[in-house]
Amino acid sequence: MPGPGAYWYGKEEMEAAMEVMNGGYLFRYGSETDPKFLKKVFTLEKELAQYESAKYALATSSGTSALLASAFALGLKPGDEIIVPAYTFVASYSSMIFLGLVPVLAEIDESLSLDPDDIEKRFTSRTKAIMPVHMLGNPCNMDKIMAVAKKHNLLVLEDCCQAAGASYKGRKIGTIGDIGAFSLNFFKTINTGDGGFVITNDKSLYEKAFGMHDQGHTPNRTGVEVGNRSLLGLNFRLNELTAAVAIAQLKKLDRIVSVLREKRAMFKSLITEAKGFRFRTLNDPEGDCGTLCTVIFETAEKAAKVSAALGSKTVDKSGWHVYANMEHVLAHLKSIGQPHTKGAYPKTDDILSRSMNISIGVVDGGLGAGWGININSSEEEIKKAAEQFVKVCE
Ligand SMILES: *Cc1c(COP(=O)(O)O)cnc(C)c1O
Repeated sequence: MPGPGAYWYGKEEMEAAMEVMNGGYLFRYGSETDPKFLKKVFTLEKELAQYESAKYALATSSGTSALLASAFALGLKPGDEIIVPAYTFVASYSSMIFLGLVPVLAEIDESLSLDPDDIEKRFTSRTKAIMPVHMLGNPCNMDKIMAVAKKHNLLVLEDCCQAAGASYKGRKIGTIGDIGAFSLNFFKTINTGDGGFVITNDKSLYEKAFGMHDQGHTPNRTGVEVGNRSLLGLNFRLNELTAAVAIAQLKKLDRIVSVLREKRAMFKSLITEAKGFRFRTLNDPEGDCGTLCTVIFETAEKAAKVSAALGSKTVDKSGWHVYANMEHVLAHLKSIGQPHTKGAYPKTDDILSRSMNISIGVVDGGLGAGWGININSSEEEIKKAAEQFVKVCE
């Protein structure tokens, strides 16, 4: 039950992977003079930078490693605090925790992403950065978030893992803040099984992220002399096979997003007659990925009833995206004296208990989106799903 890119795996991905196998170079580095070395990672990075209108793109092994490399590049140090929404995937927290940072949770609003009005309430003298997470394909309110960041001189790391293809007021997400991290795992807009990337317009951030992801090397290992390295890194490199598949998926991204927006518009228009709910706020309806349709009911009882009747769940009961469902994160927060119990973020708890995620392109029970349509659903199927929804709402 994956993201839309997986529904559209085809001969493009298969041929690209075979081409790499035939060439015999699977590592991101190879002989510059051998035509069999196809430079897929290098090409992917060029195409990603172009697609995202970013100066630099760095391919990584996952979205989690993209987040780690990004936070490291920003120069965040152990003990520094970063404001993160209380509704996100566990990796937004765990990647920061592994760098010794303190994730400070903040409320979400009815866009199901970071509530800009709650950010300043979370400030301490150690606050250094904000992590807007573009949840469920929906860009955050970046105007307000950037205004807060600017006012207080804070760094902004955009977690774009669920929103490849999204834009905010005409700008692709990921470079509105200082740096952006994306995922290419199975559940995202486009995917390669696993994988990720970082984008930024800042050369020094790119160089640091590159070094972090490749044992401290300078970009593409050019100009490194032993005795001259200042960075310690790890290995979060992407390989040629995965990059070949990513290039094929990236070519499908715009089409995926436009088909999903169309199908969602149709589904939404067919359920507006039902009563007792409203649609989640879209901070930029033109820029949203269309991967999900989130409905927010007037009461938690109604949300529970409707979602159960459809064989689904309310968002608060879904998997690992709700702070209150992350016992391992809560245990860590407790150990460092941060709020760590269900109820610590009442606005988030309330919204999530009244919300249901309906799949349009991301069919993922772990997101509470096990019910809905998918990117290949026919008009008939969309009508049928909408009728069913309207019926159980009554
Ligand atoms: C998927 C996801 C990640 C992590 O991506 P991986 O590629 O699985 O490591 C991080 N943040 C959010 C919001 C995600 O949805």
